[in-house]
Amino acid sequence: MILPATSFKQSLWHALRMRCAVCGEGRPFSGLFSMAQECSACGYHYKREPGYFVGAMYVSYGMGVLLVIPPVLYCMLTGVPMWVACSAAFGLTTILSPLIFRYSRGVWVAWDLVLSPMEPRDFGVGRRPMS
Ligand SMILES: [Zn+2]
Repeated sequence: MILPATSFKQSLWHALRMRCAVCGEGRPFSGLFSMAQECSACGYHYKREPGYFVGAMYVSYGMGVLLVIPPVLYCMLTGVPMWVACSAAFGLTTILSPLIFRYSRGVWVAWDLVLSPMEPRDFGVGRRPMS
């Protein structure tokens, strides 16, 4: 029996481990930038509605900002030219973009479960984590 996450903290922990935010067992990602339609363990549909992952862009934006701040601060404090900070920030965000993609979507799914709790229609036919 698969039990659903009972809190945002637990869903977030599942997402940070790159597991299904609902059950913590399924693997939502199959490639660098591809996500499964539903959880292989509990059947939860990750994309609940059209445009669902637009909200994940806000999360990825925040992650990008957090990656840009250290090189910019370093350059400001040490007098290194700003083009070096821009190059470092560009390189960091490019190299880490698969991780940013995965974590932003995982965190978005966890956060969305708080805003809009799961319903039976969010699972595949005949599949519910609480059965
Ligand atoms: Zn699941």
